Amino acid sequence: MNCDYHMHTPRCKHALGSMREYAAAALFHGLPSIGISDHSPMPEFYDPDWRMAVDELDNYVQDVRKIQHYYAGRLQIKLGLEADFYPETENWVKNMLAKHDWDYVIGSVHFIGNWGFDNPDERDGWLNADINKVWQQYYALVATSAESGLFDIIAHPDLPKKFGHRAPNVAIVNTAKETMLQAIADSGCALEINSAGLRKEVNEIYPHASMIVRAAELGIPFVFGSDAHNPGEVAYAIKLCKAILLQCGVTHTIDFTKRKAKRIKLT
Ligand code: ZN
Ligand code: FE
Ligand code: FE
Ligand code: ZN
Repeated sequence: MNCDYHMHTPRCKHALGSMREYAAAALFHGLPSIGISDHSPMPEFYDPDWRMAVDELDNYVQDVRKIQHYYAGRLQIKLGLEADFYPETENWVKNMLAKHDWDYVIGSVHFIGNWGFDNPDERDGWLNADINKVWQQYYALVATSAESGLFDIIAHPDLPKKFGHRAPNVAIVNTAKETMLQAIADSGCALEINSAGLRKEVNEIYPHASMIVRAAELGIPFVFGSDAHNPGEVAYAIKLCKAILLQCGVTHTIDFTKRKAKRIKLT
């Protein structure tokens, strides 16, 4: 596990630091490779304040190409993207993705209906939420995202716990979770172990160790992502994440190049 697949840039309007600073941080931490994966453009109506604009996509790719060149021989830099899964935007996203030669695309669910459940500005939505229903809907959306074929990596698969609203241990939620994991296993997607949760109120990685154990049983491979929104977060808790994966019985990570996956034994 020697790649940090998840980091942002100021183009998404809520991250700090140049791509060079992210790369320098990776070298400082001794990583041989990273992937830049900023928040993708989405159709106009969808969350425009938290992602790059459509006309920034080409510039984003050009900037990644430039630092790939600059760091050649010292640090491998992958061209990634964090795209959102939202029902009925699939074709739009598919066309957007077709424009460039990505090494990988991360698929994320950040909305249930019109509620950005992990957005600090929309936190009040939790006050009246039916927590069982939120989790059930979230897991169902992630399952559909895996089935969509749009993505290579499924991001932070228990994100609704961000502010501390952990998934209730009840049949209806557990069933939805199991269905989601089966869908991910069938899709061939990798699951992300994401250390950002350690920096949020929930104070634990995504996903919870119990989900990692079940994913491992299903043979789902993992990638690591710090979800860095500033260079100081690159490689955040990567050693801890690796130790957790090994403890949970995960046998493989995946390396993505031009959307081709190579399974690598985790040792
Ligand atoms: Zn972000
Ligand atoms: Fe995300
Ligand atoms: Fe992210
Ligand atoms: Zn993210």
